[in-house]
Amino acid sequence: MQKKGLLGQLIQNLCCLPGVGPKSAQRIAFYLLQRDRNGARLLADTLLTALKNIDHCEQCRTLTEQKLCDICSDNSRSSALLCIVENPSDAWIIDQATAFKGYYFILHGKLSPLDGIGPNELGLDKLESRLAEGKIEEIILATNSTVEGEATAYFISEIAKKYQVNASRLAHGVPMGGELEFIDSGTLSHAFKGRKLL
Ligand SMILES: [Zn+2]
Repeated sequence: MQKKGLLGQLIQNLCCLPGVGPKSAQRIAFYLLQRDRNGARLLADTLLTALKNIDHCEQCRTLTEQKLCDICSDNSRSSALLCIVENPSDAWIIDQATAFKGYYFILHGKLSPLDGIGPNELGLDKLESRLAEGKIEEIILATNSTVEGEATAYFISEIAKKYQVNASRLAHGVPMGGELEFIDSGTLSHAFKGRKLL
């Protein structure tokens, strides 16, 4: 049953959170309004400030409140290596789990023509101009090993060929259909080290 009024709206809007259905949304709404009004206010304020100030890094497209994120402004990294991932959280996970010391590029998704997600939505024009600069020697395609993730990796490897840049793919250990988020760091580190040139 759809509830009317502000409370109903709040519950409905909470359903935009991943994994939150109407029941959990209801529980969260009541909790915030009855038991933690200060926490709710803080959450609302922080969310607004974050929305206003956090945008994409100009270079890697990760989320940051600066023009260039911390990784892109770190000059000690190798500009010959670029790791390409679907989500900002994947870059974070790889940085924690492996000894990778290159830079990243965040796609914010994967090719999915049926959902209207093509090369432009993934920023591939931006990626291409980076490859054209000639500094990058290897791109590591760390997209998820789902059907779309594989197709995306293949598509990008073809772009890399145009610029004589090597493209590698994470090796064994990443299960088919597997998303990086759910792989333990040992396995990920192993898969990263054992990456294969395409
Ligand atoms: Zn960046």
